[in-house]
Amino acid sequence: MATFNFELSTLPPEAEALRDEVRTFLKQELAQYRGADRARSWGGFNRDFSRRMGERGWIGMTWPKKYGGHERTALERYVVLEETLAAGAPVSAHWVADRQSGPLLLRFGTEEQRQRFLPRIARGELAFAIGMSEPDSGSDLASIRTRAEKVDGGYRVNGTKVWTSNAHLSDYMIALFRTRVVPDKKHEGLSQFLVDTKSPGINIRPILDLSGAHHFNEVVFQDVFVPDDLRVGDEGAGWKQVTTELAFERSGPERYLSSLRLVIEAIREVGRQPGERAAVTIGRLVAHLATLRQMSLSVAGMLQAGKNPNLEAAVVKDVGTCFEQEIPETIHALLGAEPRLESGSDFERTLGFLTEHAPSFSLRGGTREVLRGIIARGLGLR
Ligand SMILES: Cc1cc2nc3c(=O)[nH]c(=O)nc-3n(C[C@H](O)[C@H](O)[C@H](O)COP(=O)(O)OP(=O)(O)OC[C@H]3O[C@@H](n4cnc5c(N)ncnc54)[C@H](O)[C@@H]3O)c2cc1C
Repeated sequence: MATFNFELSTLPPEAEALRDEVRTFLKQELAQYRGADRARSWGGFNRDFSRRMGERGWIGMTWPKKYGGHERTALERYVVLEETLAAGAPVSAHWVADRQSGPLLLRFGTEEQRQRFLPRIARGELAFAIGMSEPDSGSDLASIRTRAEKVDGGYRVNGTKVWTSNAHLSDYMIALFRTRVVPDKKHEGLSQFLVDTKSPGINIRPILDLSGAHHFNEVVFQDVFVPDDLRVGDEGAGWKQVTTELAFERSGPERYLSSLRLVIEAIREVGRQPGERAAVTIGRLVAHLATLRQMSLSVAGMLQAGKNPNLEAAVVKDVGTCFEQEIPETIHALLGAEPRLESGSDFERTLGFLTEHAPSFSLRGGTREVLRGIIARGLGLR
């Protein structure tokens, strides 16, 4: 049987030096942010903030300089990620492009696509959405039906995507379409495309989440023309590419830090002389955080060494989302505070926001059950 391998990774001095720089920047940028604002974690969307991150060289950090990148290490990038997440910075306008769309183009895009898109992503100017899920295809992604039919000079697209986070705010979507129907072989005939969200024939409609907030959408394509030069990779190679993209999506520290703000606020709430129960609960949370951080850092270290830690990244996401999902209930049980959305103290609103959003943590980026199936396959158990 195969096994996990979490190699011990430590941060080199240049990465730790960068931490101070990032903290000083974030302290200034987020001076007016309350706990409840910071609880949005990587959900906050602010293009100006992303541009300023780009000016600092903190987007596309590991990419080649010739594409606007900065040729820094995966461990330096890790420091920027964990500091922005820990501070609750509004990173969403560049997060998807930095984490997965850019790396996907670096690996599978044409030279022209790299030159056209990567420098603008690195400057924090382009926001990307992920066009994978469809009304009848979520976990079983290979069953998608949105068709991209070959026409002169490009493709004509018809179909519907759902749960597309920030499609209404993004410039482009990297979408998976069916370019060929191969009977009984659903993983074949899929291709990826860069789609301009302003293209004629695209209709983006809001889907409100259970809190009434609008961040995901239904995106309907009606005879949308996508030119040949915006197909990413070979026609029909979409499945291999999209699984690579999902591995990028699952590998970062955002998969265990979503509720961190609540832990920080709870520590503040119990004060310097916590009772025994509070000390035990918070001690346990902090011990779990430290362990998850070491596991997540290990994934970053393996990426830096050119390895392929897909299995370990899936384990961190599974254990990490269980942890971040339990935090609101653990803290509610400890302090008995009411989760509130509008009124109440900053602490109660932080608790309210995270109580409402925690159920989605184990769905986005692939559900817990599906992830465990991937882990089992990686271990040779199925
Ligand atoms: C906050 C949020 C943001 C999202 N953003 C995006 C986005 O930007 N772009 C995008 O394309 N998608 C996005 N999604 C969609 C997300 O990827 C899907 O919701 C997810 O993949 C599950 O698909 P589904 O909702 O169709 O559920 P289903 O696939 O129908 O699953 C229903 C239940 O059945 C279980 N299940 C399904 N298959 C199996 C199996 N083989 N074995 C065991 N259990 C199984 C699942 O675990 C789940 O509990 C987002 C979702 C959320 C919650």
